[in-house]
Amino acid sequence: MLIGVPKEIKNHEYRVGLTPASVRELCLRGHKVIVQSDAGTAIGLLDTDYQAAGAEMVAGAAEIFKRADMIVKVKEPQPVECAMLRPGQILYTYLHLAPDPEQTKALIASGAICFAYETITGPGGGLPLLAPMSEVAGRMSIQAGAAHLEKSKGGMALLLGGVPGVAPGHVVILGAGVVGTSALQVAVGVGARVTILDKNIDRLRHLDLIYGNRISTLYSNAQTVEDSVLAADLVIGGVLIPGAAAPKLVTRDMIKKMKPGAVVVDVAIDQGGCFETSHATTHAEPTYIVDHVVHYCVANMPGAVARTSTFALNNATIRHALALADKGWKLACKEDVHLKNGLNVCQGKVTYEAVARELGIEY
Ligand code: NAD
Repeated sequence: MLIGVPKEIKNHEYRVGLTPASVRELCLRGHKVIVQSDAGTAIGLLDTDYQAAGAEMVAGAAEIFKRADMIVKVKEPQPVECAMLRPGQILYTYLHLAPDPEQTKALIASGAICFAYETITGPGGGLPLLAPMSEVAGRMSIQAGAAHLEKSKGGMALLLGGVPGVAPGHVVILGAGVVGTSALQVAVGVGARVTILDKNIDRLRHLDLIYGNRISTLYSNAQTVEDSVLAADLVIGGVLIPGAAAPKLVTRDMIKKMKPGAVVVDVAIDQGGCFETSHATTHAEPTYIVDHVVHYCVANMPGAVARTSTFALNNATIRHALALADKGWKLACKEDVHLKNGLNVCQGKVTYEAVARELGIEY
């Protein structure tokens, strides 16, 4: 199969669909890969690295879309890219179609076979192609929170890990899923005092077994959330109710009563956020202050560490890319229901029920 990797064109998107190592895996199985020149240069993946892995470099995206049997990307195709897709071509990338009727219509019109990373399921449940980005964002949340506790960034002038003779900062993590657990790991690592809350007792039990008395676990309800948030120096919001907007666990009134210079990092902002005072921000201007509390609410945190994110994403996506290339999409889907769950639009039809329902399109 001929696989094509165009350079991402969405604003400030530096990730790339395939790393040189992934290209090598595909070439070792007898496939051909064409990569757009400079697709990974911004994150240190040079054209010469891709060539060494076996790729052919081509100058423009148009040639990639014209020649390739399968397009591997990161972000949803932009209108100019949708227009270049052709019937029977495979598209393998993040799509996020439910809130995007324009893109859905364009993909239907293209006649392409479109797989969405975010709806591919895993044998153990969960969404394994979304998890790596939650791991990145969770770990980053402590890094971002610690930096914004510094005085020059509006914080309370606190070193999260403390020093001998001075107590560390207190981190409260709302949600003990992938984001929460990843944040927990870093917070414990830097020596912070940590409390983590969830409604799922099994998650808390699991973390208690791993960390013992180095952390506190709390069942999440209005009382425990309020008590914890008011005692916190840094609060991480990582709750998710699948398919729904994030619950507003922290009210405006609680924010008002928090310590001056405390920091909140609302990772769940891409689902509306779990702080009543949150609104989405960008890497260019990541924070704002409400009632003396610094709010960091960047909706695409992994974009700031595009190199790490690209490798993490490829680790999760390569398996299905190889299956699609080796077997073709029909057999690959027949043999793997989890990959089939990723099929969102196929040859002019929406094939993912939730997207069809959301957009009122025939399924
Ligand atoms: P997850 O499903 O692994 O974990 C969510 C956890 O929230 C679950 O353990 C669930 O039990 C818990 N929860 C639900 N309701 C709760 C409540 N009332 N109180 C306490 N806990 C509650 O999800 P995840 O992968 O950790 O993702 C969390 C959020 O982070 C999602 O909205 C995701 O889209 C978002 N995210 C954002 C970025 C970004 O750049 N901002 C990056 C990655 C993920």
